[in-house]
Amino acid sequence: MSSGLLSYEDAASIVMHHARNIAQASHSRVEHVDLASAAGRVLANPLRADDDQPPFPRSTRDGYACRAAEISHTAVPIVGSTHAGQAPAGPLPPGSAWEIMTGAPVPVGADCVVMLEHVEKFGDLIRLAPSRATAPGDNVVAQGAQARRGDQLLTSGGSLGPAQIALAASCGYSILEVFRRPRVAILTTGDELVPIDATPGPGKIRNSNAPMLAALVARFGGAPVILPTATDSADALDKALAQGVRADMLLISGGVSAGKYDLVEPALARLGARFHFTGVKIQPGKPLVFGEIPRAGKTRSARIFFGLPGNPISSAATFLLFAAPILAALAGSCDIHPRFVLAQLARDTDRKAKSGLTRFLPAFCTFNPSVNALPQVATVPWHGSGDLTAFATSNCFLVIPEDAAHLEAGTTVRVLLH
Ligand code: AMP
Ligand code: MG
Repeated sequence: MSSGLLSYEDAASIVMHHARNIAQASHSRVEHVDLASAAGRVLANPLRADDDQPPFPRSTRDGYACRAAEISHTAVPIVGSTHAGQAPAGPLPPGSAWEIMTGAPVPVGADCVVMLEHVEKFGDLIRLAPSRATAPGDNVVAQGAQARRGDQLLTSGGSLGPAQIALAASCGYSILEVFRRPRVAILTTGDELVPIDATPGPGKIRNSNAPMLAALVARFGGAPVILPTATDSADALDKALAQGVRADMLLISGGVSAGKYDLVEPALARLGARFHFTGVKIQPGKPLVFGEIPRAGKTRSARIFFGLPGNPISSAATFLLFAAPILAALAGSCDIHPRFVLAQLARDTDRKAKSGLTRFLPAFCTFNPSVNALPQVATVPWHGSGDLTAFATSNCFLVIPEDAAHLEAGTTVRVLLH
């Protein structure tokens, strides 16, 4: 166990080390899903081309299929026509052209398609318009140019988005083999928490972390299992954790700070937990706990847990920075790194330098459409890491490096999208 507080970089490298090990381990649990509900899932088998793509030489334009060498110096007669959906025609007789539409098979013998707009037509004869030229291959995608039958098109571990789903559809896959989603138990703790549909009594608040963490878990490929909230007592935590360790990963929110009622770490220790770290020099999110609970009877596998700080923004930031890569790896994905992007600071940002802390401030990034401009980012005004009102107006965290106090407008900065 690493005692004391780790720097952000050290904590991140420990997490990524574990995430890579998990990603390299074999994931045996697969299931089959309809293509229509495969978005966001992770492919468990390479996807192969069922046929050449395209399966026939395809015209990319409306125009005339012909031989480039012939039409380049003579007028030729149009001897036939093919539109998309018709079988390949041909062979094209020498010294002739064939009317063709976008998406149609180019007749055997033709080596190019001349765009409709680039020819002059005299009755049934066409010739290239002055100043137009053509060469073999123009406006034709050769059979198999995109893929050959049997080629591997997508690798196992790739996430399925709209593009991959379209590709699978084009190859005839109506069902895909994907990894089963890891079950992620979400255990919120705190005497102050009441259910969302209750009216909080004096001193109480609604449990907003449970649905927020469930949404984050779903986004990174997990199946959230929300456990009943545990009160701040050793007994309640022991019972709740016993339930939590049945999942593939356990997220505990609250109870990891240094206060009198922060009882999560000792409860984890009673389960034989091995702690990789118990605090990181970041703000928000300093009291972050990462570790594993050995599974009875199995030597190699262990249940991974994170003890996230209870403050909602701290919970969200630490999830994205540290829990998301582990979850993505458990889900079988090879895309495990947090998504940092560069942006340009829109306004001077003054912060009291906090010694040694890397900070992640709720901010709004505008994806500026003007040419060559980086996205513009500005912090949102907030009242600390419990300020959900501010958090909900943000779309990213602005990264303030250790010990940086004043950042000038125009500086290139890193942001973590959320
Ligand atoms: P803790 O980490 O338990 O010390 O909690 C830190 C702050 O986060 C306190 O103000 C808690 O009331 C708040 N908090 C803890 N858990 C939740 C939760 N599930 N939903 C909303 N706020 C919470
Ligand atoms: Mg608490």
